[in-house]
Amino acid sequence: MKILVVNAGSSSLKYQLIDMETEKVIAKGGVERIGIRGSLLKHKTEKSEKIIEQDMPNHKVALKFVLDALVNPEYGAIRSMNEIDAVGHRMVHSGEDFNQSVLLTDEVMEKCRNNAELAPLHMPANILGVEACKEVMPDTPMALVFDTAFHSTMPAYAYMYAIDYDDYKSYKIRRYGFHGTSHKYVSQEAIKYLGRGAENTKIVTCHLGGGSSISAVKDGKCIDTSMGFTPLAGVPMGTRSGDIDPAVLEYLAAKKGYTILDCVNYLNKNCGVAGISGVSSDFRDLTKAADEGNERAKLALDVFVYNVKKYIGSYIAAMDGIDCLVFTAGIGENTWLVRKAICENMDCFGIQIDESLNEKKNDGTIHDITARGSKVRVLIIPTNEELVIARETKELLQA
Ligand code: ADP
Repeated sequence: MKILVVNAGSSSLKYQLIDMETEKVIAKGGVERIGIRGSLLKHKTEKSEKIIEQDMPNHKVALKFVLDALVNPEYGAIRSMNEIDAVGHRMVHSGEDFNQSVLLTDEVMEKCRNNAELAPLHMPANILGVEACKEVMPDTPMALVFDTAFHSTMPAYAYMYAIDYDDYKSYKIRRYGFHGTSHKYVSQEAIKYLGRGAENTKIVTCHLGGGSSISAVKDGKCIDTSMGFTPLAGVPMGTRSGDIDPAVLEYLAAKKGYTILDCVNYLNKNCGVAGISGVSSDFRDLTKAADEGNERAKLALDVFVYNVKKYIGSYIAAMDGIDCLVFTAGIGENTWLVRKAICENMDCFGIQIDESLNEKKNDGTIHDITARGSKVRVLIIPTNEELVIARETKELLQA
């Protein structure tokens, strides 16, 4: 069975074709600048790489280029489109309608359209990707895999904001959480690694990347997560502020002449470690600058680390303990200095890492950095959201 995984952004479309017998990626790539001059398809198989520069005015055209590349006799990976058994789509928001992945139907699509306003930056683009696929491959089964679904097991006291209950009901204002596919994958991999089944496990997963979120996973189920109604909440990120006193918005609007929309844009794009440091949102630049003595870069790293530590501590309280701490995504997998700083002075929780194991370069496999005598296992687990999407699509197809 071969499954095409599609992740559509507003001007991009990333894909992977996965052979489900081996779970190996047989082709992958992405289109950039859809609808903008200079569209570009980068396509890669085990044996070849191809770049196609051609204007692609919309997602449907982009998808046709992707499919042509996949079946191209010279640089493709399959003989015909019929070899694609199903398509798995990444969909950012499930609202309160879906607590797991679903096969695509007209009714499902209608609910997604209704939920689009909950994630206006992502959902319209995700929906465009699905519609393009439906048009180009009308007979291929499709599944939707939601970023928020893994968090749907949160108890009401964790997802409720302390607002008027009627407003929660009318406008669906609550914590949803994001990066669910990643938190699910790494927590399941951690459970496999611990080798004792999901029951009675207490895991904190730290997805630290361009956007960052922390989750508490008890008995294999998410019970809390740091992102909220939108991916702006939680720990500070590359350019996002993370949690902030909401009254700052009014003050900021008055001081800078901002509208509400300006304020939200500012919190999404001009803040985080980039805002504090004035250097960059990229942790490679930040650690370099801090190492060279840049005080604001150092402060930005300190603020990031301190907030991640606080979330970990609060989730240990929420779960009454911790067995395993997991790091994943760009920073979690690669920036040893940040892992070191987060795990420092966590002895009271039984968290200790082996410094030399922690400093070893990530090789794309699970990496156990637990120190001898540490009560808590500390793991680096490379995330693989595409594989989760493909696995869930396969499961739905076989159900
Ligand atoms: P996104 O949310 O954009 O997918 P990533 O998970 O790719 O983000 O994480 C990006 C972050 O990871 C950047 O801050 C980057 O500095 C950091 N990082 C550190 N080392 C590496 C590395 N070797 N490769 C990729 N990203 C890295």
